[in-house]
Amino acid sequence: MALTSESWDTRIERAEELAGKSDATREILTFYKKLLQSQKEVEEFLRTRRGWLPSGYLAEDLPVVKECLPLILRTVEADGPAPLAEEARTLMSAASVSVDEMLLEYWYTPSDTQFFAKAFLQPYARWLAESGGHPLDRMFETTERRCPFCGGMPQVSFLQIREATSETGNRNLVCATCTISWSFRRVACAYCEEERPTKLGYFHAPEYEHVRVETCDTCKHYVKGIDLTRLGFAIPLVDEVAAAALDVWALEHGYIKIELNLVGL
Ligand SMILES: [Zn+2]
Ligand SMILES: [Zn+2]
Repeated sequence: MALTSESWDTRIERAEELAGKSDATREILTFYKKLLQSQKEVEEFLRTRRGWLPSGYLAEDLPVVKECLPLILRTVEADGPAPLAEEARTLMSAASVSVDEMLLEYWYTPSDTQFFAKAFLQPYARWLAESGGHPLDRMFETTERRCPFCGGMPQVSFLQIREATSETGNRNLVCATCTISWSFRRVACAYCEEERPTKLGYFHAPEYEHVRVETCDTCKHYVKGIDLTRLGFAIPLVDEVAAAALDVWALEHGYIKIELNLVGL
């Protein structure tokens, strides 16, 4: 299976472009752009460390990995929303052992409300994948709706044309933990694998022609889908954040997001 993800720079550029397009989401996209920049720095720090590769056991890798946590904390303190900035300040002066616990807890039992651990471990998990490693201390059931590399939940889905002869496009999911993507059935709930078309819904808003909300009436979960066959230069992780209005719609209609994104929507 091909595991792929676009570069940090591609994501940063897309966030910057979209921030300039809408007053409603400028603030969250500007913050997300800065967060992506510091995530890029984290991965570069790990990548350029001489004589070191991640072992795949986070507990073992922590002494090195944790050295770059201030990169994320400083960004959030300077540019994040007030409650996160406050939390960043607390973490800067927190005891080393409690920071370890926070990171390990996320790694073993991920939650989309653990903002700092999620933001910080995305570049670690990605570098682990790119350097040929595997998460060895993170056990999850292997199912199609979980990331085949790390077992993470889907953050967003996207459609792309893979073969020249295909017009409809293949569906993929992007992992919330390592940001790598994998292929998934086109018509199935990414949370409970419901396949009956009568239970699955798709909702568009006129302002985002290439984004849809993919809902399931069996488990009441949803994920946003980015249609790259309509807008080839969209970046699923970033366009998902930009289409914040669709999260409001989904919430109002009683759907629960499979995984909140890094701006908390
Ligand atoms: Zn993953
Ligand atoms: Zn479902």
